[in-house]
Amino acid sequence: MKGSARRLFATYAVVSLLPVLVLGALLVALTSRQSHARALAQVRAEAQLLAGTVVTPRMQGTSLSNGLTATEEAALKQSVTSAITSHEVLRLRVRDLTGHVVFSDDGKIDGGVDDEALEAARGEIHAALTTLGADDNQRTGPQVVEAYVPLRALGADRVIGVVELYLPYGEIAAQVQSELREQMVVLGVGLLVLWLALLGLATRTSRALRTSAEDNLFLARHDALTGLPNRSDFLTRATRAVDDGPAVIALLDLDRFKQVNDTLGHAIGDRLLVELAGRLSDHLREGDVVARLGGDEFGLVLRGVSDEDEAVAALARVRALIAEPLVVDDLPLAIEASVGFVLVPADGRAVDVLMTKADVAMYAAKRGHLPPTRHQPGHEQYDATRLRLVGELADAIENDQLVLHYQPKTDLSLGRVTAVEALVRWQHPVLGLLYPDAFLLAAEQTELVEPLTRWVLDNALRALSRLDSTGELSVAVNFSARSLSRADFADEVLEALIRTRTSPRRLLVEITETALVADPTRAAESLTRLAHAGVRISIDDFGAGQTSLGYLAALPVHELKIDRAFVMAMDSDPRNAAIVRSVIDLGHNLGFSVTAEGVETASVLADLQAAECDSVQGYYLARPADENTIRLRLENARR
Ligand code: C2E
Ligand code: MG
Ligand code: MG
Repeated sequence: MKGSARRLFATYAVVSLLPVLVLGALLVALTSRQSHARALAQVRAEAQLLAGTVVTPRMQGTSLSNGLTATEEAALKQSVTSAITSHEVLRLRVRDLTGHVVFSDDGKIDGGVDDEALEAARGEIHAALTTLGADDNQRTGPQVVEAYVPLRALGADRVIGVVELYLPYGEIAAQVQSELREQMVVLGVGLLVLWLALLGLATRTSRALRTSAEDNLFLARHDALTGLPNRSDFLTRATRAVDDGPAVIALLDLDRFKQVNDTLGHAIGDRLLVELAGRLSDHLREGDVVARLGGDEFGLVLRGVSDEDEAVAALARVRALIAEPLVVDDLPLAIEASVGFVLVPADGRAVDVLMTKADVAMYAAKRGHLPPTRHQPGHEQYDATRLRLVGELADAIENDQLVLHYQPKTDLSLGRVTAVEALVRWQHPVLGLLYPDAFLLAAEQTELVEPLTRWVLDNALRALSRLDSTGELSVAVNFSARSLSRADFADEVLEALIRTRTSPRRLLVEITETALVADPTRAAESLTRLAHAGVRISIDDFGAGQTSLGYLAALPVHELKIDRAFVMAMDSDPRNAAIVRSVIDLGHNLGFSVTAEGVETASVLADLQAAECDSVQGYYLARPADENTIRLRLENARR
């Protein structure tokens, strides 16, 4: 690269010198021609002056065809001799109008007729360079100027003859030469400067071009935001790794990143990506690869890892690294990642196939909230279904394929059902009844979740009057982070209440803890508006996220719903029981009512009662069921 650039530069230097030299030669020729012309003009003026002072005053104004009068000749001889003596003139002759010599300083009045003499007789001055003695065919004499000047009668404009003069040119020539030398020096310096400027410009331009070419090369291989290798570079490196021996190829996708972007803005989304990219590249070993494949997706190659457990452990460390909260505007922003991976060469050697498998495994991990997941043959079927479902969901909403199931919530101190939670299902014409985990995650990543949420809210509120005419039952509706991030979220909910003539007291808005974090400011605004109108707010899946307690205490919250994972495990793990008990205490201390969901056994129910939990929900008490089943159950209970 360097050597070829130098060669190119040398070629350019030589090539650019050529036009500069041609230009120089042209300018030299032009300048010297002009100086000579100037010198000649000067000599002509001098000749005219000499003719006027040396010859004209000695003439009496008569025609010269008969030669000079004696008086004229004597006077002329004297003044010419003195002019020659003082070196003003070298030779001088006077000719008549026919060109014949009538006076010569050397006394010879023979000699032929010159064309120049005839021109001068017609009134034109003629001056040219020649050598003294050229007329006598002596080519080597000193340079002189031969001039023919019309001789006019004194006081009249009439031409009476021609004065032929030979003037010394040496002095003028010397002056012209020295002027010319000066001009040449200026010209030479100017051209040199021009050439150097051209070279400088060329160097600068080529350097800029080289840098931009290098930049382009970098950009072609790297992601502009994070500076990590991009997808195409990742594929190249992954291919190399596959050839080199055992390795892990992993795909990592951030969970809910789109919500962060949509709710907190792209600037914060970008900051998050840059930060995570930094963490990942700092963490990896020499030879490992991390690349940004697009959006919120990263690719990893871990070399030398051949064992599944080892891979899971390494990737779990990567996940933990990503989960460390990033503080944005004083609020910790926690993001999680789903990771799918394949082992090379156990899962294959073709990079495109390996990438697809890792992708499928990654979606399986995302769907199941699983730790880093290795690809398994069963994953594909599931994944194809998931993608097809998203495509069909829009029609499903329009064609009333969605149904609501309701799960009762029991107040432990009253000993009766005070609310039902509306849970959406999809009665799919081919696949049968689908549960939220089959389609909701995908819907939440698209706009589709909006019409879905509106449908659920409207139908749950309408069902409420059919389920209970006494007006005591409430309905809980789940909202996703995307809904919560809308500016008109509160308005839409309040409008639905008006449309269905439902008292705001009978609606419980369930928001997951993680949805709150996505846009805390806007969430607080919307929830406060709803609470003012009388709607109750419930924090769903509490304990699974990382909400700051200070933030939570400032929200108009009515209820905490303990994540069912803790509740279900109370039996088997005393630590979970302890967590549940402390959440109940915490909720009470903050003035919230506490609900435990996922109550599957009598012993868990007893423990919750002992811990003074306010409400419970779970398979042990009632499974979610369709509207009719729930209505009959509620009627029976009332009787
Ligand atoms: P969630 O709001 O925490 O709902 C409770 C989930 O726990 C329901 O699952 C319910 O069937 C299940 N569950 C209840 N009792 C037990 C139990 O004793 N043991 C076990 N293992 N599970 C129990 P489902 O219906 O599959 O819903 C899953 C999640 O989908 C819900 O979690 C909720 O976050 C979301 N979801 C459901 N319907 C909607 C909806 O209309 N809109 C939105 N945005 N999300 C919804
Ligand atoms: Mg819920
Ligand atoms: Mg829940």
